[in-house]
Amino acid sequence: MRAGFPDFRLGSVLATSFTATLTERCGNAVERIPTPQRLVDWLAVNDLAVDSCTAAQLELARELRESIHAAATAAAVHDALPASAVRVINDRSAEGRAAAILTPDGKRQWRLSSASRVEDALGVIAADAISILAGERDGRLALCASPTCRAAFFDTSQSRSRKWCDMNTCGNRQKKARFNANQRKSATAARSGAN
Ligand SMILES: [Zn+2]
Repeated sequence: MRAGFPDFRLGSVLATSFTATLTERCGNAVERIPTPQRLVDWLAVNDLAVDSCTAAQLELARELRESIHAAATAAAVHDALPASAVRVINDRSAEGRAAAILTPDGKRQWRLSSASRVEDALGVIAADAISILAGERDGRLALCASPTCRAAFFDTSQSRSRKWCDMNTCGNRQKKARFNANQRKSATAARSGAN
């Protein structure tokens, strides 16, 4: 990780890991890909390495990110998918020219048509979003219960009852808030008991 930039929030689902490059959308938003180089870093971590990124390509990436977020949020609350978001997702998917490659040890890798084609990487992300939005994968889209977050995440838990986009961040913060509230309550009870 590069010093001076917010860390990435990485999950197991590519499309929602990507939307998590902007967090706390309903609070003090944190932009985790503030520069083209940070998008290059993020893509490398997610096995979609490119050797460069322009400001225009970063804009394209952010537009795709917010479109996935809008569509996933609508799907989570069973609203109609916003037409403009669907258009952006489809355009990015159609522009991508990445090929799925099977490695000798049986893993799937993406091969971009050229190392400078951020568009190919975005195509892979868009296709991942489509597979979730189309209900092709085992899981359910849901919104994080944190009021300052409200991120859309893909719940693959057996009970489909996950509440937080990320247990280590939103989940923990909520647990701490509840703990502090209980501490205050018992402190108040102790004081009134002494009177
Ligand atoms: Zn959250």
